[in-house]
Amino acid sequence: MGKIAVLGSVNMDIVITTGRMPKIGETIIGDQIDYFVGGKGANQAVAAARFGGTTTFLGKIGQDTFGEKVYRHLSEEQLDVQSVAQEKNIFTGIASIFKLPQDNCITVISGANGLIDREYVDQIADKIIESDVLLVQIEIPVDTLRYALQLAKENGVTTLLNPAPYHDIVGELLPYVDILTPNETEFAALIGKELIPEPEIEATILAWQQTHATKLVVTRGSQGVSFVDSGKIVTVASKKVTVVDTTGAGDTFNGILAAALSDGVPFKEAVVLANLGAGLSVQKLGAQTGMPTRKEVAVIEN
Ligand code: ATP
Repeated sequence: MGKIAVLGSVNMDIVITTGRMPKIGETIIGDQIDYFVGGKGANQAVAAARFGGTTTFLGKIGQDTFGEKVYRHLSEEQLDVQSVAQEKNIFTGIASIFKLPQDNCITVISGANGLIDREYVDQIADKIIESDVLLVQIEIPVDTLRYALQLAKENGVTTLLNPAPYHDIVGELLPYVDILTPNETEFAALIGKELIPEPEIEATILAWQQTHATKLVVTRGSQGVSFVDSGKIVTVASKKVTVVDTTGAGDTFNGILAAALSDGVPFKEAVVLANLGAGLSVQKLGAQTGMPTRKEVAVIEN
């Protein structure tokens, strides 16, 4: 397999399961608490490594017990974590998640993720340059993203930006981005809309691609994924599956896409593998639990 560098966030997700949200000023007794390692950067790195990619995670943790926990977890997932920096006087990123019967409410505190700066990129520049693919998201400072993408691009590394959560910087980053992987909402934001009506999505993707050099891949939940190939729109449908938890579906898609591309898999085939892998991930609870190995994807491929 080729080499993937993932520069991004890592959080300790603290998940409180409760029947309802407390009202302002109220105290209620919840049902359960769970701790998961999360953050889009860490999730996508784990997905790439599970798929067999030689994956380096680049990011920052704090000097606290959560920092030690996430570091251990990432190394157990076979990631190269040697360049993860531990910052003094700051906490590890935290996502505080209230898991409610109908949906989740989430507050993220960036902590050490917010300290990923140009200086750090300079320190780990070799790890980026020696990779085949650099995979990034937008949970770290945007100035650092621009700097890292530019470094990768100048050194012939394939750059993959998952524009999540969406930020207006995306347009500015495009000159340094080879592949852009928004979901439908992020794609709508990219073209300045709140929503694109379902029947117009494919034509809108085609129109965008005709005027941009960056390769666009739009993930579309249970519908699968759409992109343009030889001037024509291609939609790869998802398999019908029993959905348990879609958290991390996008992260699985991006991690596998990066891993397959780093291994020289042709673009269209890599998208098909990522779509299959993401479809497997939604069948298990938790962002990382369902992330498949290459073997597991191969089983359903045929
Ligand atoms: P999330 O934020 O939930 O991680 P996302 O919004 O970034 O996901 P989606 O477009 O919802 O991204 O999903 C990414 C990919 O995951 C899809 O392209 C598809 O391959 C797979 N997927 C998501 N939902 C389903 C589903 N219900 N059934 C099958 N595959 C799915």
